[in-house]
Amino acid sequence: MTAVREERTTDELRALAERAGRDLEDASALEILRWAVETFGERFCVTSSMEDAVVAHLASRARPGVDVVFLDTGYHFEETIGTRDAVQAVMDVDVITLTPRQTVAEQDAEYGPRLHDRDPDLCCALRKVRPLEEGLRGYTAWATGLRRDESPTRANTPVVGWDEKRRKVKVSPIARWTQDDVDAYVAEHGVLTNPLLTDGYASVGCAPCTRRVLEGEDARAGRWAGRGKTECGLHG
Ligand code: SF4
Repeated sequence: MTAVREERTTDELRALAERAGRDLEDASALEILRWAVETFGERFCVTSSMEDAVVAHLASRARPGVDVVFLDTGYHFEETIGTRDAVQAVMDVDVITLTPRQTVAEQDAEYGPRLHDRDPDLCCALRKVRPLEEGLRGYTAWATGLRRDESPTRANTPVVGWDEKRRKVKVSPIARWTQDDVDAYVAEHGVLTNPLLTDGYASVGCAPCTRRVLEGEDARAGRWAGRGKTECGLHG
C-alpha cells in the first residue's frame, strides 16, 4: 500500500460516514464498495477472517488488487490458512497478513499456557484487537463481512458507520444480507469458502474457541461457547 495522507478531519469523516450510512442503506453491496473505493482510494481495505472470500471478491470487483487484511492469531485452523493462501493465489487482491507482537510460545511463557481458556478477553486483546489497530493505521476506512442476521449483537450494523474506537469509517457492505444471499453469491461467482463451513461450522474463528453449531443455534453460537463471550473486541 502506498501511504496517502488523509486530508479530512475526524469530525468530517464521522459526518461523512453517518451520511453515507443513511444514503447507502438500500444500495447493493457492490455500490457500497464502489463508494468506499471512490471516496478513500488506497486508504481503504477489506478485512477477512477467511471464513469465506465474499467481501474480498466484491471489493476486488470494485477495485482490482484491493488490500485484504487477514489477522493470523497463531491459533487458526489449517483450513483457514489454506483459504488465505488460495485467496491470494486465485483472486485479484493483495492479502496482507497481520500477526500479534508475540508468538503463541512467547505468550505462553509470559501469561501461562491456554490463556484463551482462562482470560479470552485478554487473549483476544493481545492477538486480535491490538494487531488490527496497528495494522489499520495506514487506512481511513475498512470493510468487514458483518451481517445483521448473524446474532443479536450485530442486528443494528450500519452499512457504513463510524468506528469510534479506531476513529475510522467502517463499511459493512453485506450487513443486510442473509445466509441465503451469501450462499447464492458464492454459487454464482464460484467464491472460495473455508472447507470447515461444510463440516458443521457456521462461523470460523480460532481453533481453541470455535466449535460446530447445533441444529437451531445462531451462526455464532459456536464461538467461545460456554464462556459468556460473543465478540472478540474487533467490532465492539
Ligand atoms: Fe485467543 Fe480464542 Fe481470542 Fe483467538 S479467539 S485470540 S484463541 S481468545
